[in-house]
Amino acid sequence: MFENLSERLERSFKLLKGQGKITEINVAETLKDVRRALLDADVNYKVAKQFTDTVKAKALGQNVLNAIQPGQLMVKIVHDELATLMGGDTAQVNLSGNPTVILMSGLQGSGKTTMSGKLAKKLKSEKSRRPLLVAGDVYRPAAIEQLKVLGQQIDVPVYTEEGNKNPVEIAENAIRYAKTNHYDLVIVDTAGRLAVDEQMMQEIAAIKKAVKPNETLFVVDSMTGQDAVNTAREFNERLDFDGVVLTKLDGDTRGGAALSIRTVVDKPIKFVGTGEKLDALDYFHPARMADRILG
Ligand code: GDP
Repeated sequence: MFENLSERLERSFKLLKGQGKITEINVAETLKDVRRALLDADVNYKVAKQFTDTVKAKALGQNVLNAIQPGQLMVKIVHDELATLMGGDTAQVNLSGNPTVILMSGLQGSGKTTMSGKLAKKLKSEKSRRPLLVAGDVYRPAAIEQLKVLGQQIDVPVYTEEGNKNPVEIAENAIRYAKTNHYDLVIVDTAGRLAVDEQMMQEIAAIKKAVKPNETLFVVDSMTGQDAVNTAREFNERLDFDGVVLTKLDGDTRGGAALSIRTVVDKPIKFVGTGEKLDALDYFHPARMADRILG
């Protein structure tokens, strides 16, 4: 499928070393390989260029030209830079507030509803929370039904208001209901569209303004590659979200969207979705993602 970049870098430097001195031009040539691999991994073009420029400066600064094992040093520089850019330590989700309110945003099909269920399950078992799921998609009865089915599977109630077409009101009422009934975590699933549109953005911005969530998460399908960046940028401009959830990493994507999104919107990636099952959720680990991008 993809060529392994780490091996490729080591091999090309070994060849160069055999020919004598490694030059700055050699390093630049090799970085073309890095850039190609990043593009293969669906990293945004501009982000890939910016990344290789940074790595070049670091490589020359750390004297790759005279290193005993230049290939290995180069791989380390690339790996560390990827991990640093994607966030260093694992980001935490903000669980303050009583109830804690988490607002889920993203396009339809990104995995928002599934992720709402996964988060409820995880926080219920790991943090002993009493979650309430809120069906905020008033346009698609199937979406409400899907959330109800998820809720049943994990034994978490789902707040719905039949006939009410105002998601802001539903979210506000749900939080009131949570307070009265001692739920300490409210996860609001919202309507998604197939593409970003003005009505959807206004609606979710209005929900955010009304309920003041402790955490607004943007959910994005890692398989959407280059498009993921534009979607992330638009949602961030309107919502100023707190963190990103990258779904469908069980697919064959290299996960370059993680690097692109992090670089472009500068918001931490907090969780990853790794399957359709409700326990297929993990915290985001930058170093692991760097390994995956490098192959
Ligand atoms: P929503 O429209 O954003 O609420 O998206 P859904 O939660 O309905 O998910 C859309 C589809 O993607 C469903 O078929 C899910 O089972 C699937 N899905 C969600 N998350 C993942 C994931 O991490 N991996 C895989 N393979 N499928 C996922």
